[in-house]
Amino acid sequence: MKVLVLNCGSSSIKYQFIDTEGEVTLAKGAVERIGMSSAILTHAPKDKEPIKIVGEILDHTLAIEYVIAVLLSPNHGVIKDKNEIAAVGHRVVHGGEDFTGSVLITDRVMSVLKENIELAPLHNPPNIKGIKAAKAHLPHTPQVGVFDTAFHSKMPPHAYLYGIPYELYRKYKIRRYGFHGTSHRFVALKAANMLERPYDELKIITIHLGNGASVAAIDKGVSIDTSMGFTPLEGLLMGTRCGDLDPSIITYVMGKEGLDVRDMNALLNKHSGLIGVSGESSDMRELEAAVKEGDRRSKQAFDLFNYRIKKYIGAYIAALGGLDAMVFTGGIGENSVEVRKAVCSNMEYLGIELDLEKNEKPVGMADISAEKSKVRVLRIPTDEELVIAMDTEKIVSEQLS
Ligand code: ADP
Repeated sequence: MKVLVLNCGSSSIKYQFIDTEGEVTLAKGAVERIGMSSAILTHAPKDKEPIKIVGEILDHTLAIEYVIAVLLSPNHGVIKDKNEIAAVGHRVVHGGEDFTGSVLITDRVMSVLKENIELAPLHNPPNIKGIKAAKAHLPHTPQVGVFDTAFHSKMPPHAYLYGIPYELYRKYKIRRYGFHGTSHRFVALKAANMLERPYDELKIITIHLGNGASVAAIDKGVSIDTSMGFTPLEGLLMGTRCGDLDPSIITYVMGKEGLDVRDMNALLNKHSGLIGVSGESSDMRELEAAVKEGDRRSKQAFDLFNYRIKKYIGAYIAALGGLDAMVFTGGIGENSVEVRKAVCSNMEYLGIELDLEKNEKPVGMADISAEKSKVRVLRIPTDEELVIAMDTEKIVSEQLS
């Protein structure tokens, strides 16, 4: 089945057009700077020349019109007729407590998504816009929502409740939800395949390290805890997000610096994390370069980043009561030799030992643990778009049968 996968942000749409048969990406690209006069569409078709178009694209509806047009283009396209798009799969960030798996998007689903806007005010509105835009251009094509939160929906109450008055959970659904679920689920399944062991017998810790970063503890195929919480701000140190923090700091800094809620939100989400601590960069490659040049604060940010991951691993081994495999994924997890090395250092006591040589240049899915390591340490490239395409195919096929 040929599925158009859409990941809609407030000013960008990333897309992949995937043939689930053979798991082939026929084209991928992005529209960036939506709403601005110099929006950019980049499109890379399989076996054809990539193109870049700059022009005014005022909203998501127009952006998707361009995406469909470029997929149909005689020189750069990969289809001859719009109807070849058999389904559209949307990445939706927050499913709240309502969605425990991927769903066919219906009017009822749309109204629940709208109800969940308060839980993800930055992410869900552009996701909804994207769904509406895709529906406008492809009214008869089934659309499926795949939620970042769904994989974590089976966490037990002791993992998802916060230690605040229970009324706040009842009234406002304040609890931990977790994110990056599509990625954690994908790499955990791949890990079981690699180890040739049943997924529902394994204890796995998945470590997704990109601009956003989270760790998940997966027991027999169920995410029993994860580091992101009510929003994607909790947990690990990230590119620009603070991760775990004493909540009193918020009111203290607001008072001292005269910040309002909006300013404080921006401080924690956009000006903290690697950039906040280092003052150099939110990008791990740049940060590592600064560390090599001897920049002290960059080194502190780098150490803090790795130390937090290490602490979560320790905590999750305790929560899982053991560990079979640990997976590094995401831009940093897949590519940073130094981060993997730092995170796995001095973990022999817990049965985790890296093979430093294998860690240097892993290719594709790789076991980078030492022969004698009890826990297999794996590097597995994530592919969230493929998961969305496969889920979409499954749901649409079930509806049709
Ligand atoms: P996103 O969360 O936006 O999808 P990615 O998963 O692409 O982000 O991860 C981006 C991060 O990966 C950046 O911090 C980038 O510097 C880092 N990264 C990519 N390649 C390398 C590398 N070779 N070494 C270290 N970090 C890398």
